[in-house]
Amino acid sequence: MAFFNEMMEVSLEGLDAEISGLINSELERQRTHIELIASENFVPRAIMEGMGSVLTNKYAEGYPHKKYYGGCEFVERIEEIAIERAKKLFGADHANVQPHSGSTANQAAYFSVMNPGDGMLAMRLDHGGHLSHGHPLNFTGMMYKITAYGVDPETETIDYGEVARLARECGPKVIVAGASAYPRAIDFARFRAIADEVGAILVTDMAHIAGLVAGGAHDSPVPHSQFVTSTTHKTLRGPRGAFVLCSAEYARDLDRTVFPGVQGGPLLPAVAAKATCFKLAGEPEFKSYAAQVVRNAAALCARLRERGFRIVSGGTDNHIVLLDLRSKGITGKAAERALEAAGITTNKNAIPFDPEKPMVTSGLRLGTPAVTSRGMKEEQMGLIADALDEVLSAPDDAGASRAVRSRMAELGAAFPLYESVR
Ligand code: PLP
Repeated sequence: MAFFNEMMEVSLEGLDAEISGLINSELERQRTHIELIASENFVPRAIMEGMGSVLTNKYAEGYPHKKYYGGCEFVERIEEIAIERAKKLFGADHANVQPHSGSTANQAAYFSVMNPGDGMLAMRLDHGGHLSHGHPLNFTGMMYKITAYGVDPETETIDYGEVARLARECGPKVIVAGASAYPRAIDFARFRAIADEVGAILVTDMAHIAGLVAGGAHDSPVPHSQFVTSTTHKTLRGPRGAFVLCSAEYARDLDRTVFPGVQGGPLLPAVAAKATCFKLAGEPEFKSYAAQVVRNAAALCARLRERGFRIVSGGTDNHIVLLDLRSKGITGKAAERALEAAGITTNKNAIPFDPEKPMVTSGLRLGTPAVTSRGMKEEQMGLIADALDEVLSAPDDAGASRAVRSRMAELGAAFPLYESVR
């Protein structure tokens, strides 16, 4: 018993040095590398406090004031606050803040209105869509009749004419707007007009751009969509998690689908951290952050173009820059590896009509949410673009790689991260 009590008070470092050491190594990696993965960000310390709180001890199946467990008076207040803040931030009728992840949020939206065998029209994965938008190996590809729209081969932007034509042809129950690797603005009003014309429901997955929407740097899908799903951990700069917004008529169906439909108890530490995330995203500083994310992506894009990179779609309207590496004679896979060694973290990504396999690819997806959270601006984007070009112009030059790595660590040190975290 004595041992148990003592153990309860011992730090992670004291109790599990192996895991504690690896977490510290990851902190050091985040500090010293330049983070350009478009779906990642650095959350404020306050968000991490919510995630690391005693809320992990609590079960709270059900919804506020209709919980299946006792002792929920504080956690249901937290959930209520998260719901109210999400509704206010995005101007939505209804919010469910319980989904554990973006894929589960999509599952909840689809299950609310679709039956197995129903038709879904969504963006092709290899043109920028997400696995949970109909990939054959995903539940969506197994359960629904998928028709996929892509980008125009010339402009590499969504061909709304083709979306409309496909919608008329396949008469889907649901049309999905939103993407994981699409650098241009999405016209949600246009999607809604197409959905209305064919009697489909519009589900918008704004996971990537949620922070830009909250900060007024991208048009909002909320007025145009019956359902809007999102993660909280990308541009929105919150904890790992997700939420779904919907119009009032679907509120009951959505809530029933999340619980008990696809989940059990909510992850309360994440719910609390989502509430804080929604609060922060409603503050004026977040508007400046969102605008800077977009300006930084434009600056990164402009310098890379100057350096001879071909930019998919010719530019960016959001936080993403998608590079076609073929003119540089390197694959996405090799580029990702070379940059990693040089202290720049990115991910290989298929580009539209990519001749390479998905594990190789001809593209590289870059994003500016994380570097912007560190306080970097256009000037630093120029330095990063130059470093990227240096590495990719001579991927086997170990000396150049080492030099860039130490420059990137210096750049990181000039924009300190989590100084109060040890
Ligand atoms: N939707 C989009 C557009 C995404 O980009 C992602 C993740 O990258 C998801 C959904 C899935 O989110 P999660 O990884 O939390 O399941």
